[in-house]
Amino acid sequence: MELSKQHFMSRRGFCLCCIGGAALAANGWLTPGEAFAEARGIVSLIKDSAATSPIVAHKLRNNISVLEGSGGNVAVLTGPDGKVLIDAGIGVSRPQMTKALVDLSTDPITHLINTHWHFDHTDGNAWLNSAGAKIIAQENTRKYLSEVQRVEEWDYNFLPLPLGGIPSEVFASEHNLKLNGLSIDLKRYAPAHTDSDICVTFAEADIVHVADTFWNGIYPFIDYSTGGSIDGMIAASDANLAATTDKTIIIPGHGQPVSNRIELKEFRDMLVTVRDNVAALKKQGRSKAEAVAAKPTAAFDAKFGNFVIDPGFFTRLVYEGV
Ligand SMILES: [Zn+2]
Repeated sequence: MELSKQHFMSRRGFCLCCIGGAALAANGWLTPGEAFAEARGIVSLIKDSAATSPIVAHKLRNNISVLEGSGGNVAVLTGPDGKVLIDAGIGVSRPQMTKALVDLSTDPITHLINTHWHFDHTDGNAWLNSAGAKIIAQENTRKYLSEVQRVEEWDYNFLPLPLGGIPSEVFASEHNLKLNGLSIDLKRYAPAHTDSDICVTFAEADIVHVADTFWNGIYPFIDYSTGGSIDGMIAASDANLAATTDKTIIIPGHGQPVSNRIELKEFRDMLVTVRDNVAALKKQGRSKAEAVAAKPTAAFDAKFGNFVIDPGFFTRLVYEGV
C-alpha cells in the first residue's frame, strides 16, 4: 500500500480522481485495492469503462444541465450562442456524449471551459474542439496539457494533448463571459486540489461548478504533485460556502452531480476533522502507517469511504500535508 501511495505522489502523477465517475462506482467496477493492483493498466481500464458507460443528464435551470458518466461532472449551457461545456469528460465517451448533447438541444458546440488539467476533465478536449469548441482555462491547465507527463511507476507517458485539445484562451485569475444571456464568471482558487482549479459561476441562474474542490459524499483526491494540499482544499471549501446560499445549485467535480450547501458543509467539516485528527497523530510522532492504523477517518468512513479514495489512502494524502 505504501508503495502504491508513492504512485500517486509522483510529480504530476496520474491521479485517482481520473478513475472517478459515478458510472464506475455504481457498477462496482473497481475497489480501491483492485485499483492499486491494476495501476499499470488503469488508463486503459478507464477508457474501456468510459467507452461503455451511459451518460445521464440532469436538467437544472436557465438552460443549464449536468452530464454524469464520463470522468468528472460536465455542465452544459445551451442557447443561441451555442453550447458552453464545463469540462470535457473522457474522449472515448464521444458517441454517448454526442447523443446526450443533441438530446439537450440542437445548438452547435461553441465553448469548452476546463476546470483544471486532470485527464478525467480534459481528455475529450480534442474532439470537442474539432466539433467547434473554443477551449478556455486557467494558464496552468494549458501548461500541464502541453507537456509530457512521465509517470515512472506506472510506466506510462501522458502525452501532451494534440494542438486542438490545448486551451487557446487562458487567464491568470479571473475571466468573464456573457453567452446565451447569462454571465459566466471564471475564477481561480488559491491552490487546492491542484494549482489550476477554477470555479465557474452562472450568476443569474445561481449555479456554480466548483471543480474538484468538492467531491460530493466521497473522499477526495488531493494532487500534491501540482500544488494541491489539504489546507488548500479546506480554504476552497470555505470560499465555496462564502460564495453560495441555500438556494445555489452546486455542481461537484465528482459524486452525485446536483448538490447544495448542506452537502458542501458536510464535506468541509469532514475535511477539517480529519485534518485535525491526522495532524494530532503526526504531532505525537506517529508514522504514516501508524496514523492509518489509528483510523482517524473512522467516523466518516461509512459515508465517504465507498469510492476510489479509501480511508487509508485519504489518511495518507492528509498526512502528507499536515
Ligand atoms: Zn482532478
